[in-house]
Amino acid sequence: MLQPVDKILEKKDLQLDEIKTLLQLKPPSNAILFKKALDVKSKAVGRKVYLRGLIEYSNHCVKNCYYCGIRCNNKLPQRYHLTDIEVIEAAKYAYKNRFASIVIQSGEDSSKRFISTIERLLAEINKLTNGELHITLSLGEQSIDTYRRWYDAGAHRYLLRIETSNPDLYKKLHPRDKLHDYNHRLDTLKTLREVGYQVGTGVMIGLPFQTFDDLAEDLLFFRKIDIDMVGMGPYIEHENTPLFEYRAQLLPLKERLEISLNMVAVLRIMMKNINIAATTAMQTIDPQGRERALLAGANVMMPNLTPAKYRDSYLLYKDKPGVADDAVGSKNAMEQSILLAGETIGYGEWGDSKHYELRIKN
Ligand code: SF4
Repeated sequence: MLQPVDKILEKKDLQLDEIKTLLQLKPPSNAILFKKALDVKSKAVGRKVYLRGLIEYSNHCVKNCYYCGIRCNNKLPQRYHLTDIEVIEAAKYAYKNRFASIVIQSGEDSSKRFISTIERLLAEINKLTNGELHITLSLGEQSIDTYRRWYDAGAHRYLLRIETSNPDLYKKLHPRDKLHDYNHRLDTLKTLREVGYQVGTGVMIGLPFQTFDDLAEDLLFFRKIDIDMVGMGPYIEHENTPLFEYRAQLLPLKERLEISLNMVAVLRIMMKNINIAATTAMQTIDPQGRERALLAGANVMMPNLTPAKYRDSYLLYKDKPGVADDAVGSKNAMEQSILLAGETIGYGEWGDSKHYELRIKN
């Protein structure tokens, strides 16, 4: 027999079936879940939203993930790298506007040139900002030496999304070769932790072939690997990708969003003091999607600082919002959405994951 939701929400450690029950709540029944998650968030990490200015450094990628609009076999996007000056200007903008953190994201590239460019940029940004701007990298799978070099050059956090914790589903989303190996990705998450990074991962929600068991297992996976930060959001299909073929199997976008919000809320209840991002993909489906995520337990936002002329070349999925905005437009839109949600902005604060702070103390 199914347990009542209010009884499940009183439990200390949620188990698979309980998580599945919560993930399947539909509006308005999920309001009780969001209320509980907001309460947990307020007590564990407060009601501040921390900013990470997002710099999409390059859309060159050696990989060919079946869901991604910038995978190497898609010949349509115009490929770019930001210049050093463009990266530095974006970092300076974040610093001057007291964002306190940036994220440098890119398609995957392990060439010597790429590795040393990132290393040089990290050193330069650190010098320019007296080490006051915290830097997160999201540059895919690299060797331990590369991760060490970037860490030593001043990167503090690393995001590497597992996309799904189910190895069989992972195989359906990626080519079956060494470059797209589930176990390697898992090992890489461990390597990042070993090097000393604050480590983030995440999954897509509402994928073809994905079940509620998979999603519940994803949340248990985050708990098992003791992750510091999570960024997850609805899967949004891109027409120039192999996975688009399975679009008939997908849930309506609005349902994918509701399940994503349920995922955020349940995760906040399960892992009280981690950082959870309100992702742009949520805003793609609903203009209020990011505010709703904040009220469901998220506490991080990533306003886009990529120069406007490159934004429509970094479309991982269709209809990504903010493509026509510049840095000021992104900042204003984000500020408005945070205030609308009744939260405050942690200007000038790094907003490190409290989970990480405790982890390194012990
Ligand atoms: S998801 Fe990331 S690694 Fe995969 S093709 Fe896209 S940019 Fe490359």
